[in-house]
Amino acid sequence: MADATPVIEIRNLHKAYGALEVIKGVDITAHKGDVVSLIGSSGSGKSTILRCANLLEDSQQGDIIFKGEPVTWRGSGLGRHPADAKQVLRIRTNLSMVFQQFNLWAHLTILQNVMEAPVTVLGRDRAEAEKSARGYLDKVGIGDKCDVYPAQLSGGQQQRAAIARALCMEPEALLFDEPTSALDPELEQEVVRVIKDLAGEGRTMMIVTHDMKMARDVSDHVIFLHQGLIEEEGAPDTLFGQPKSERLRQFLSSTM
Ligand code: ADP
Ligand code: MG
Repeated sequence: MADATPVIEIRNLHKAYGALEVIKGVDITAHKGDVVSLIGSSGSGKSTILRCANLLEDSQQGDIIFKGEPVTWRGSGLGRHPADAKQVLRIRTNLSMVFQQFNLWAHLTILQNVMEAPVTVLGRDRAEAEKSARGYLDKVGIGDKCDVYPAQLSGGQQQRAAIARALCMEPEALLFDEPTSALDPELEQEVVRVIKDLAGEGRTMMIVTHDMKMARDVSDHVIFLHQGLIEEEGAPDTLFGQPKSERLRQFLSSTM
């Protein structure tokens, strides 16, 4: 019954930048093994939701609940911040993020990039972290690139290194923000393949993507955002096959 508690629960999330309200009351639940994709036009609030979920951004209202544990806040409204630094670290570590621009450290080798946070942030034993890092680099197909620097890799290889880095934190869930958007089409597919493998293993994931084919193939649940609100959501075949809202229909016809 432990699995009845969602890994991530976002309830009635509201987020503003100054006077600009960009998330206007959003609810998202991901149970263990769920792949939830967020789609929608640029500026609809997809990245903001991921960043609020792992506490890279503050929010003004609503709950973020990690495995049944709600974030505790200090203050309210625009003055609201997470109250407990240890909780922030625990949640951020467990909802490991993969960014569009990879965000690898240029001055570290690929192996160092992957083992850095487990050692310095989580205090893991260096030899064990290295063993685990090498394992994840093998898993994403770049086990031979341990000793090179990010600039020596293709974009697809860099993104796979970033995925290995996220996995090396042993997170409960992975959050992807447009993981293939910076890549040429032929490199995109090698990253899609890794994401499909992770989905097949039953990883819990939230994926912001413009790649509708991937969203349809890997997701259990797809959410279409429009101007900071969920306009429509459902199983991928239903959402893509029989879209109900006119906005979703327009969005899909503009992307496919
Ligand atoms: P998406 O990822 O769907 O393209 P975002 O979540 O990045 O959308 O942005 C949602 C809205 O919030 C947009 O109107 C964007 O301009 C605004 N926004 C995002 N980040 C900031 C910021 N740091 N400061 C002010 N406005 C922001
Ligand atoms: Mg975005």
